[in-house]
Amino acid sequence: MDLEVLTCIRCSSSWNRQKTRGRKPKICPSCIPSLQKIEDDQEDAQILVVDELPPLKTKFKPGTKWQCPSCKVSIKINVGINYPPTHSCPKRLRRVLPLELQ
Ligand SMILES: [Zn+2]
Ligand SMILES: [Zn+2]
Repeated sequence: MDLEVLTCIRCSSSWNRQKTRGRKPKICPSCIPSLQKIEDDQEDAQILVVDELPPLKTKFKPGTKWQCPSCKVSIKINVGINYPPTHSCPKRLRRVLPLELQ
């Protein structure tokens, strides 16, 4: 059985503990009851938790119909989009204009 000597960061006393894998306690067993929560909070702060991205939601659902208010051309978008589609309008000197949701 392997033993390791650990030193308490609170009361500076040393104690022996069976060597295990994983994180080492920084506080001796007699101090743990009062400081367990604080130590846990500190550990958590050092770990960057990356949340899973929420499911992709688009502002406009797939299958929306859009029309140009100038030349009345209409298109159907089969994917979800967040911004209105644009087209270069032949009636407006081929300026790129956003379409309007129908
Ligand atoms: Zn201690
Ligand atoms: Zn147009």
